[in-house]
Amino acid sequence: MFAMLCRHPRQPLEWTEVPDPHPDDHQVLIRVLACGVCRTDLHLVDGELPNPKLPVIPGHEIVGEIVAAGAGVDRFRIGERIGVPWLGWTCGVCGFCTAGRENLCDRARFTGYQIDGGYAEMAVADERYCFPIRGDYSDVDAAPLLCAGLIGYRTLRMAGAARRLGIYGFGAAAHIVAQVATHEGREVYAFTRSGDGAAQAFARSLGAVWAGSSDDAPPAPLDGALIFAPAGALVPAALRATGKGGTVVCGGIHMSDIPGFPYAVLWDERVLRSVANLTRADATAFLSLAPTIPVKTHTVTYPLIDANQALADLRGGRVSGAAVLVPG
Ligand SMILES: [Zn+2]
Ligand SMILES: [Zn+2]
Repeated sequence: MFAMLCRHPRQPLEWTEVPDPHPDDHQVLIRVLACGVCRTDLHLVDGELPNPKLPVIPGHEIVGEIVAAGAGVDRFRIGERIGVPWLGWTCGVCGFCTAGRENLCDRARFTGYQIDGGYAEMAVADERYCFPIRGDYSDVDAAPLLCAGLIGYRTLRMAGAARRLGIYGFGAAAHIVAQVATHEGREVYAFTRSGDGAAQAFARSLGAVWAGSSDDAPPAPLDGALIFAPAGALVPAALRATGKGGTVVCGGIHMSDIPGFPYAVLWDERVLRSVANLTRADATAFLSLAPTIPVKTHTVTYPLIDANQALADLRGGRVSGAAVLVPG
């Protein structure tokens, strides 16, 4: 099969013929139908994530059709359409796993990072970490649900009941989370790069009651804020925009350094926290909720061979919604 291979960080992905993968015990072999492009892929390619498997095939928002199954596979059948997310395997026995916090498993392995992912014509995945794709989503429209949706949803949950909700960085995750938050009766305040009128208009079209630049003050203090952009300077900005007792949640896997700020910015029981990965419970909850709202994804498709262009467009802020790769 062909894949877009990351041989070394900080070099373009290479269109390469590699051996077809074979499903091991509990694994399914899928023909990749679509694979979303996540900001995490950019951090991987930029060498900002520690200890990737190398070479590695990136991609952890995979929609595929099962074409073969290894021993012990009993959740899915050949021909079924499934989604493969970031969480690829956990140990099941560590303190985190046994406490329902498998997202923090000491030995967790992640798709497109320690396990080859979906920037390829085929992939294998442990069926215990895969999910059926329901609703009338096309393959392309379903792909962004698998990380932007799942981890965005976990990030939203961590903000508690915040009614006035700020969202910093209006990309793939935000455009999904805004729909869920609006559906839940929250008010969404969208913060974008300064002067990004297109992203602000996009946010308003998805239900945001206010959209402005990340250095603007919202019209009223926020009850909580989610940060999806990887800029550490947004942390004190979001804390300043958030009222007493509010929570600021960092939803990304990597962020530039956070500048110093006065303690008064955190005072009054404001909470600052990160969100790491996802649990299978998050995925089950979100994937059953999304079609009922219904969450609609906005996608820009690229042929698989153009993955480097997709990553460049994501880096340049030129993708409205989510970029998705489609094998030729
Ligand atoms: Zn574990
Ligand atoms: Zn992701």
